[in-house]
Amino acid sequence: MSKEETPALLACSLVSVRSTELIHHPYQPPAGSDSLQPPVQKASTIFFPDMAAVRSRSWLDRSSYTYGLHGTSTSYVLQERLATLEGADQCLLLPSGLAAIASVNMALLGQGDHVLLPDNAYGPNKEMVEGQLARFGVTHDVYDPLDLDDLGRKITPATRLVWAEAAGSISMEFPDLAGIIALAHERGALVALDNTWGAGLAFSPFAIPGPGGQMLAVDVSVHALTKYPSGGGDVLMGSITSKSWHLYKKLNANHMHMGFGVGMNDVETVLRSLPGMELRYRAQDASARALAQFLAARPEVAQVLHPALPDAPGHANWQQLCGSRYQGQGAAAGIFSFLPPPQVTQQQIDAFCERLQRFRIGYSWGGSTSLVMAYDLKAGGRAPACLARLKGHRLVRLCIGLEDTASLQQDLTQALPTLLG
Ligand SMILES: *Cc1c(COP(=O)(O)O)cnc(C)c1O
Repeated sequence: MSKEETPALLACSLVSVRSTELIHHPYQPPAGSDSLQPPVQKASTIFFPDMAAVRSRSWLDRSSYTYGLHGTSTSYVLQERLATLEGADQCLLLPSGLAAIASVNMALLGQGDHVLLPDNAYGPNKEMVEGQLARFGVTHDVYDPLDLDDLGRKITPATRLVWAEAAGSISMEFPDLAGIIALAHERGALVALDNTWGAGLAFSPFAIPGPGGQMLAVDVSVHALTKYPSGGGDVLMGSITSKSWHLYKKLNANHMHMGFGVGMNDVETVLRSLPGMELRYRAQDASARALAQFLAARPEVAQVLHPALPDAPGHANWQQLCGSRYQGQGAAAGIFSFLPPPQVTQQQIDAFCERLQRFRIGYSWGGSTSLVMAYDLKAGGRAPACLARLKGHRLVRLCIGLEDTASLQQDLTQALPTLLG
């Protein structure tokens, strides 16, 4: 009697024995079949060999599995690689860079706490602090990223967390990170860095040379993996890394209770892109610096905001922290902004963006395609002291992709006259 004939009583089943055999097949992969890429282990349910295993395993422990939400072998590999990249011990993955930022706020702040953001902080972080966190009884203030005295004045006994971004991702000010860390720690506050720009390559967030020769470290580093690690403009993901087990436990508990899982196919994409990241970073850096210098000499440009250029806000801080990388060439992400002369209107800037052909209009960066975006810092609510440093407030941001630099320069050359036209 064939298997198909036996289970008459289960005639209502929608599947045949063949479906079962598709699941319970006899093939066993050879032991030690070690490939470059880890297998994509997709799971919500993970099987336990027995009840003793159920009781002995902890979802905090990456040496075993409990439930797919807390990761599988595939995401454990990415967590390990990112912790290594940033010089941290612990890493959490989240569904976006913004989810990583929001999680740091949720995990480390509570009623009565005060948080400080730099004026050039990633916009949605500011909005969260002003909105949700205010509802939960967290107060905030905004400090000038280039003014340590301003930061010192704004730290209060209730300040629990100071955010930093190096460089700010639109106006590109590069802060004195060692100074910020030393000041915050001295006053009992934690430091969270949005390290998307540095990507773990331009500097090491957990080994920052301090003024007296001692090594300083941020407490947590957040990274939009959406940008450089993904490299393809096709994945949204974020990470939080830390060296402190105490902080990691808090961050991990919040991660678990918010239900932040990541898709293993996305993890696979990032794992595939990560080994080439430094090559891409350096190529985009070289191309971006060449184009920044080209633009600095053009009459349609009042000021170029690229931390590696000598007159950019915070250039000395960039030089100090990132200038010695790569045999003294220094390291910078392939993203920068420029300010057209103040009389240039928003319409002229929009026409410039639309005239570009190689550069596509879009958000994000770190992908293969060059992007352009226009911002108005005044409309973005930037502080007067920060605006006063700049020759204008209407800004164009360029994200350099992997195209040939000469073709990007040609594209800029044909579009620039629209700014003054
Ligand atoms: C893009 C970006 C984020 C947010 O990342 P998403 O994955 O898009 O949510 C955070 N910080 C910086 C500096 C970014 O550029």
